[in-house]
Amino acid sequence: MSSGIGQRKRGWVTWISTIRLQPHLLGRRIVDIQITQPRLRWPIPDDIHCLVGGTISSLQRRAKFLVVDTNRGHMIWHLGMSGSLRILPNHVPAVKHEHVTILFDDDSSLRYRDPRRFGCLLFAQQAPFEHQLFTRLGPEPLSDGFTADYLSRQCRTRSSAIKTIIMDSHVVVGIGNIYACESLFLSGINPKTRANRIRAKRIQRLVNAIKSVLAQAIEKGGTTLQDFTQADGKPGYFRHSLQVYGNTGQCPKCGRAIHRITQAQRSTFYCTNCQR
Ligand code: ZN
Repeated sequence: MSSGIGQRKRGWVTWISTIRLQPHLLGRRIVDIQITQPRLRWPIPDDIHCLVGGTISSLQRRAKFLVVDTNRGHMIWHLGMSGSLRILPNHVPAVKHEHVTILFDDDSSLRYRDPRRFGCLLFAQQAPFEHQLFTRLGPEPLSDGFTADYLSRQCRTRSSAIKTIIMDSHVVVGIGNIYACESLFLSGINPKTRANRIRAKRIQRLVNAIKSVLAQAIEKGGTTLQDFTQADGKPGYFRHSLQVYGNTGQCPKCGRAIHRITQAQRSTFYCTNCQR
């Protein structure tokens, strides 16, 4: 038994990774919490020990956070830059940088390893999503809250490049670099266009494109790839259906050369002919 998420992948917790952990955690009773290094990005609160004796009822994901619900309160995890969560039998010895071990009633344990310690483990007695970590985050892109009206309102007051806007977690969470490039290509929008210059009709096309690109990635990740743990950087089989990201050749629509530029320290791939 070994199931993990995170691992060198910049802290993303995706639907897929949440689903992978679920069968190992649901219904497990916590018998002990061992902390060898409480100084993560923020100190692990002592209250976390309130969870001992609690039973895990559900796992939820919001942006880059994983929330583990129990009948005694909630754990809020963020994997930071280098964190990973794994489920192992108790007899497997701890490795270096393993800071937290949560022991369960079936002799398995959830281990948190984080060499750089930018991740966090926090506690909420109730209503975990009212924690200040979550209050400034934009909606999830696949939720009903992410509409063309909503994105238009966000764009109206912003003059930055549209690609930067859709990758800003205060606007909408979870759109990584690859998905941003693909969605802009699909909707025919130049990634450099100032957000407040884009008309409502094109914003609608962009929202539709984002939802369809993400839905496709989740579907491919869920059905064909075991270790699809990050939305950005390792798209696995989804890579086979990428149109522009990583494309150093021709545009699949018009055959002209794909351009590569840098925006906010990230590579942008686009077609100057198809994207205006
Ligand atoms: Zn083109």
